[in-house]
Amino acid sequence: MNMIEIDGSFGEGGGQILRTSLSLAAITCRPVHFTKIRANRRKPGLMRQHRICAVAATEITGGKLTGAELNSQEMTFGPGSIRGGEYHFTTGSAGSTMLIAQTVVPILLQASEPSRVFLEGGTHAPGAPVFDFFDRVFLPCLRRMGAEVTARLVRTGFYPVGGGQVELEIQPIREWRPLELTAGGEKISGRIVAAGSGIDREILEDEVRITDELVGPGDWKTEILEADSPGPGNVVYLELLRKNITELFSVCGEYELPRKTVAKRVADMAKKYLDSGAAVGSFLADQLLLPMALGQGGKILTLPPSPHAKTNAAVIQKFLAAEIEMNNLENGTFMIEVKK
Ligand code: ATP
Repeated sequence: MNMIEIDGSFGEGGGQILRTSLSLAAITCRPVHFTKIRANRRKPGLMRQHRICAVAATEITGGKLTGAELNSQEMTFGPGSIRGGEYHFTTGSAGSTMLIAQTVVPILLQASEPSRVFLEGGTHAPGAPVFDFFDRVFLPCLRRMGAEVTARLVRTGFYPVGGGQVELEIQPIREWRPLELTAGGEKISGRIVAAGSGIDREILEDEVRITDELVGPGDWKTEILEADSPGPGNVVYLELLRKNITELFSVCGEYELPRKTVAKRVADMAKKYLDSGAAVGSFLADQLLLPMALGQGGKILTLPPSPHAKTNAAVIQKFLAAEIEMNNLENGTFMIEVKK
């Protein structure tokens, strides 16, 4: 079959182009040739966590991978056929296990037997979904689409040391259903959580207090959690349970990032979503496009599409016949419709 060419400098120009393409190449059984991988990043080319995604797609399909050395900007992946079963993938340090999950879950849903995947690395790392988001926001949406996938956090792996463990169980998809998330529905509960390992309790208390003050009225419950992690680290998140959806806005603590800044970033993201009237937040929107396009499509009411969402839509359309429309409703929200 003809090789699909993916220019990694296109649009957003980051790792998501690679992950979406790897999943879709495996699922559609099309070989793919990447050039200019992550060209828009300060350190372009394959970082460890991206390389592991390519290795994972190759192992799961018994395929062929060339050029996947660290820092490489050109790589070819020739998928074989998808096999479920037991897999172990390690990112090393705090490379995100959740981004490996983002790559392998769509692939293993198409296997003809169930799979168990053991992931090691970062579970709460900046610039990626944290485990809580994946487990309580992304997976429930996937289940609404008919997928049976569960995740278990065995050990937290905070940035920068990582060393966390996650187990996934994935059943072959029987029947996809369309996803319709055009209204979030009333608030059922909301909480602000600061979780940490090896961090002064006073820092965690300040983080939840400041987030609570900045996000404004809403009767948020606050919680401090001690996490068991090989290295020190911290995450703050606001989790909002609504009638039709759970959303979660998180920021990972980083060395020399003041607690006030962490809290402000969480509050700003949550406020933007709360004030918008959207059902689906920006991160979730870019992540739902792939399963919607693989499945029966659907409609989501979201914030103005991020560069990640626009780029992901373009990458998906290189492999699949799905139409992806993004309509500005002129009140600050967009309706994204995926038509099959
Ligand atoms: P790069 O280093 O090239 O930026 P990457 O592979 O780390 O690449 P991106 O291409 O930027 O990552 O993709 C990041 C993914 O993580 C996107 O799907 C985005 O929605 C998701 N993401 C980032 N931050 C969050 C967050 N706070 N909550 C949920 N999802 C997030």
